[in-house]
Amino acid sequence: MKILVLNSGSSSIKFKLLQMPLEKIICSGMVERIGYEDAILRFKKDDINVQETVPIKTHREGLSILANYLTHPQKGAIKNPQDIHAVGHRVVHGGDSFAETTLINGDVKNEINYYSALAPLHNPPNLEGIEIAEKLFPTAKQVAVFDTAFYQTMPIKARKYAIPNTFYTEDNIKVYGFHGTSHKYVSEKAIKYLGKETSKIISIHLGNGCSMTAIVNGTSVDHSLGFAPSNGLIMGSRSGDIDHSVIFYLAESLGYSLNEIKQLLNKKSGMLGLTGSSDLRDIQAKAEEGDKNCQLAIDMNAYRIKKYIGGYAAAMNGLDALIFTAGIGENSSLIRRLACLDMDYLGIQLDLVKNEKQTNELREINTDSSQVKILVIPTNEELEIAKQVLELLS
Ligand code: ADP
Repeated sequence: MKILVLNSGSSSIKFKLLQMPLEKIICSGMVERIGYEDAILRFKKDDINVQETVPIKTHREGLSILANYLTHPQKGAIKNPQDIHAVGHRVVHGGDSFAETTLINGDVKNEINYYSALAPLHNPPNLEGIEIAEKLFPTAKQVAVFDTAFYQTMPIKARKYAIPNTFYTEDNIKVYGFHGTSHKYVSEKAIKYLGKETSKIISIHLGNGCSMTAIVNGTSVDHSLGFAPSNGLIMGSRSGDIDHSVIFYLAESLGYSLNEIKQLLNKKSGMLGLTGSSDLRDIQAKAEEGDKNCQLAIDMNAYRIKKYIGGYAAAMNGLDALIFTAGIGENSSLIRRLACLDMDYLGIQLDLVKNEKQTNELREINTDSSQVKILVIPTNEELEIAKQVLELLS
């Protein structure tokens, strides 16, 4: 069965075409930096390796270009769109409506749209991806895999906010959690690698969106994103943790409208607000040239990660492994180094040489004497999604 997995994210679209259950990647591709003049398009199939820098304004444009590559007579991987049996979509917010992978119909799309209010950067591009895929691959089954599903097991003390109880019981205001597919995938890899019966793991997903999950024996027990994907770590354009009094001050004293505050905190804050760029590669390059704002933003970013590591180690009463994953976690030795710096008291010791090595495999980057394993594990949300789609359709 050929399953096309689409991850239509905030600033990128990634796809993989997989032959399942063989877990064989037929081809893959991505569009990064959507919205920029120098968006990057990649397509890979066997020894065909395309990389182009092209202006791509919208997700629709990006996905159409990728679909043209898929069916391209020479470079493509399929003869016609009917060759694809199912499209598995990563959907960020499923609220309490979707605890499981689900076949998409009109009602499901309405629900995904409903949760756009809670995930304004994600559910809209996810839904757009679904609607474009329905047109491009009309005979394929369309399936949604929800990021929120991994957190249904979290204890209520970590899911509930300290506001009056009725907001939890009647209005469903609680921690939903995000990046669940990624945290599940990398933590399962780590558990296998550790080879222990029991395990306490902190999974650190650092992409444009960033989150951390505390995982005991494969089950999530705490998580840094919350009701919407805005809490916790400093992200590409999102502030992460912020005192809610700032919001009232912005509205009451500085005259910002609610919509302006939403835009400010979701789209103009985080690394973008601190440095003018949300792309860590640019920020690191400027920091190296001596840009003080970029240097400080990187320090702040790593410091926030460090605080969550401490919190989760305390919550779990121990720590066997840290996992770094996603664009920044897998590629930025600088962020990993700063986040693990001076953490010996928790048994975390980074090997600076191993930290600089770059591979696409799971790798251990702690010193031999470190009590905690520090692992870089490439996330593979696409494979995880394909597995879940196959399971549903079988
Ligand atoms: P998302 O899927 O949330 O859109 P990704 O997981 O693709 O995001 O991660 C994007 C982030 O990874 C960007 O901030 C980008 O700068 C960063 N990144 C990618 N490659 C590198 C690299 N070699 N060094 C530092 N940061 C990198």
